[in-house]
Amino acid sequence: MRLSKSFWQTFKEAPKEAQIPSHVLMIRAGLIHKASGGLYNYLPMGQRVIQKISDIVREEHDKEDCQQITMTVVTPGELWQETGRWGVMGELMLKMKDRAGRDLCMSPTNEEAVVDIFRSSVKSYKQLPQTLYQINTKFRDEIRPRYGVMRAREFLMKDAYSFHLDKACLDEGYDKMYRVYENIFKRIGLAFIAVEADGGAIAGGGAKTHEFQVLARTGEDKVIRCKQCGYAANLEKAVSAKRENRENKCKASDKNVSLEMVETPSCTTIEDVCRFLKVEESASLKSLVYYSISGDIETPVLVILVGDDQLNEIKLQNYLKANHLKAASDGEIERLGLVKGYIGPQSLTDIKILIDSAVALDNAYVSGANKSGYHSKGMIPNRDCKNFDVVDLRLAGVGDVCTRCGGEVEEIRGIETGHIFQLGDKYTKDMKVQVLDKSGKGVHPLMGCYGIGVSRIVAAAIEQNFDDNGIVWPKSIAPYHVYFCFIGKSQEIKELAHSLYQSIKDSGVEVVLDDRGAGPGFMFNDADLLGLPLRVILGERDYNNDGLIEIKERKSGKVHKATKDQLISKIKEILTGIN
Ligand code: ATP
Ligand code: MG
Repeated sequence: MRLSKSFWQTFKEAPKEAQIPSHVLMIRAGLIHKASGGLYNYLPMGQRVIQKISDIVREEHDKEDCQQITMTVVTPGELWQETGRWGVMGELMLKMKDRAGRDLCMSPTNEEAVVDIFRSSVKSYKQLPQTLYQINTKFRDEIRPRYGVMRAREFLMKDAYSFHLDKACLDEGYDKMYRVYENIFKRIGLAFIAVEADGGAIAGGGAKTHEFQVLARTGEDKVIRCKQCGYAANLEKAVSAKRENRENKCKASDKNVSLEMVETPSCTTIEDVCRFLKVEESASLKSLVYYSISGDIETPVLVILVGDDQLNEIKLQNYLKANHLKAASDGEIERLGLVKGYIGPQSLTDIKILIDSAVALDNAYVSGANKSGYHSKGMIPNRDCKNFDVVDLRLAGVGDVCTRCGGEVEEIRGIETGHIFQLGDKYTKDMKVQVLDKSGKGVHPLMGCYGIGVSRIVAAAIEQNFDDNGIVWPKSIAPYHVYFCFIGKSQEIKELAHSLYQSIKDSGVEVVLDDRGAGPGFMFNDADLLGLPLRVILGERDYNNDGLIEIKERKSGKVHKATKDQLISKIKEILTGIN
């Protein structure tokens, strides 16, 4: 591409709302254009990146005999009614009516649509397994679209869906897709980890699912990783154990310590109470009141955690199989007969009690006394509490130990760019799909679904590959490979530049020629901002002196020289050697 003829333009400034490097750089380097909040147009340079990512994704899927289809972006409401998701999706789903008054929506995901396709032709186990995928537009009316294409409302997703006769086959298909995903992210050249993820309330949190997280400081997701054995999970799901550090705790043998009510005036927080009673926070218990909401039913639940732990609401929601959760308001706490700031689990019988598994049930703790201005000392859950369930509800964190190997865990940040999930028979059951098994019996096939945020990868790749001057593309997805500039005004140098550019292009190397007539500073800034792997500089003065042309690597800054005849082979050699 000759830049003088191209649509490409860079910008000095990015809008104020651009808070992370990829958003700033995508706007400034002329990759995208904002249409509205969470809606972005891809300009020619950005489109090339999208295309390259899509190609890699498609090739890796095709290698494993996944079959590409294209489903409609607008899907009929009646399909969503079959699974009940017409209601469950809430405002995330953009709904509309056609002229005949029929319900339609912009696809936020396509399980229903693919099951509808599947059921129209698959009737027998002999036709299984099958994996269909598409690379297509999704629309989600996100509450807070942000970070440019990273969390957009309209975005490009690769979504694949597999169908299997039984669990063993689903497991096999799932493992295959896991490898496909590893190959895709390796081929693009991104640092990533696959982490155990939350399966959501539908599956009670138990479904097998992994997220592929691209590591980045600006990532929205927190990941807990064991430094020793490599266990890694999204914080939403992560399980880890507390390091035992309760100096003031009574030992398990102190079973005879009695339950004692002590005055704790104006001490309504764990911090206040523990300071007042001179005990470690880890020797106290925290009581939280939540409502589990499913349909019209709201059920109160009392959650008990060790004083210095935090609740992981997702674990709670999954355990309760709730559609939503809400923290009880002051009024609701009062109506339950509880005293805010002084709640404790002992002797309560009218409310469901969940005690976190990090609480040592035979140890004595400080907890609220269910009386204003008082706390209890020597509260031993196993002795003093009635009817409770023990559940893992705490948020994992730095300083914890791995439950698998005892190693130290760390918290890192990632960008969720892929998500694979065993759906089981949820959708085939809801949509009444059966296939005949070997014995002629009708069974609901099992499904897996597998998503990749194709447009999010553009941003994620930049978050991992940029410097003060701009983007530093991995070769695999760079819009072009070579930025060719020439310095000098003479007709000869111009002609040489154009002819070299043409031969580089004809040799199959993706190259742009900066023939806009700008000064070297301007050209170099734009070249750095766009971040193509190589910059070739034909400088009139140098060339006339020594006959050499400069080739500079964007990532390492390494400079090479070549004569005009060596240029193409040198470019190819360098490109082969870099990622
Ligand atoms: P998130 O937790 O980031 O909201 P999700 O878990 O809802 O994502 P999935 O339904 O698993 O997303 O979608 C598959 C993939 O699509 C995600 O892994 C992500 O890469 C991408 N994706 C999801 N939402 C968006 C969005 N709003 N903008 C861009 N990409 C997205
Ligand atoms: Mg996800």
